[in-house]
Amino acid sequence: MKRGEKQFASDNYSGICPEALEYLNRANHGHDLPYGDDAWTREACDAFRDIFETDCDVFFVFNGTASNSLALASICQPYNSIIANEFAHIETDECGAPEFYSNGAKILHGKGSNGKLIPDSIAEAVTKRTDIHYPKPKAISVTEATELGTVYTQRELIEIQKTAKSFSLKVHMDGARFANAVASLDCRPREISWQAGVDVLCFGGTKNGLAGGEAVVFFDKALAKDFAYRCKQTGQLASKMRFIAAPWVGILKSGAWLKNAENSNRMAALLEAGIREIPSVEIMFPREANSVFVKMPEHMRDGLQSLGWRFYSFIGAGGIRFMSSWDTDETDVKMLCSDIRKLSNVN
Ligand SMILES: *Cc1c(COP(=O)(O)O)cnc(C)c1O
Repeated sequence: MKRGEKQFASDNYSGICPEALEYLNRANHGHDLPYGDDAWTREACDAFRDIFETDCDVFFVFNGTASNSLALASICQPYNSIIANEFAHIETDECGAPEFYSNGAKILHGKGSNGKLIPDSIAEAVTKRTDIHYPKPKAISVTEATELGTVYTQRELIEIQKTAKSFSLKVHMDGARFANAVASLDCRPREISWQAGVDVLCFGGTKNGLAGGEAVVFFDKALAKDFAYRCKQTGQLASKMRFIAAPWVGILKSGAWLKNAENSNRMAALLEAGIREIPSVEIMFPREANSVFVKMPEHMRDGLQSLGWRFYSFIGAGGIRFMSSWDTDETDVKMLCSDIRKLSNVN
């Protein structure tokens, strides 16, 4: 891959957005207190409370795997289980970290279409067995936006919350692309988080334009008790925390978090529209956020690769995933579409 070239493989191919970079620089003046005792970290936590319009406890860790796994560990005892969709990142892409960090909590698959969990499948996983030999269900994990590029509506989340309540389960949300979901639904962040029953949200920054650093946002503050110790023990407590926190201040206060997601979603919509005009390519799932999953003939796949395009074909339910980023523009989309179209004319 040439330096500086844009791709559609994942939104983590992108760089740091200007607002985040500016605040990284702003925080780089003189000395400051370590381990999150600095003013930037306080300001970032307050910025989260502002955008969620509620009191909540906020922690920062280095990446999404750690944020999900530590959040789930704060809910589960080692003998508990977590119900998640079979395509959930915590199940397929975290190398067993949720089980590792919780000392053994097991992930159970719940069914549903387009990457979502449905209440019936949660009930089925919980009631299937109630004996001592079955790992006791304690958490539901939903991904917003989902791994297949769809988005749970507030109504769908509230249905899940009802089921969670009826079985005394806590709700964890993997929000690696939470911003994309908010942009897609054009809602307020609170509507698809604490007002829809989410107890702890892992809010992703990396794919939204940060260099790294994810926020773990506890709406159920009781779960946050001793969370700082979990972070420290697992090597997730940054000593120069201000360099994770300040970029968050930059994107939250400027509104860049939403602007970035809106751009990314819009570019994916444009890509989807372009691809729909090409007869031999099929869109696999409703495109609701910033990814487009497609099925295309083998020779086109190979052709795209030879032209230098990168993409994943092992994520989700097969097919190829194209994903736009905060900095994807129309020219990038047109280039990809034009290459796909050209290949579709070759047999
Ligand atoms: C990218 C991603 C994460 C976080 O992954 P890390 O590489 O550990 O930062 C978590 N959940 C989903 C759905 C993701 O796409």
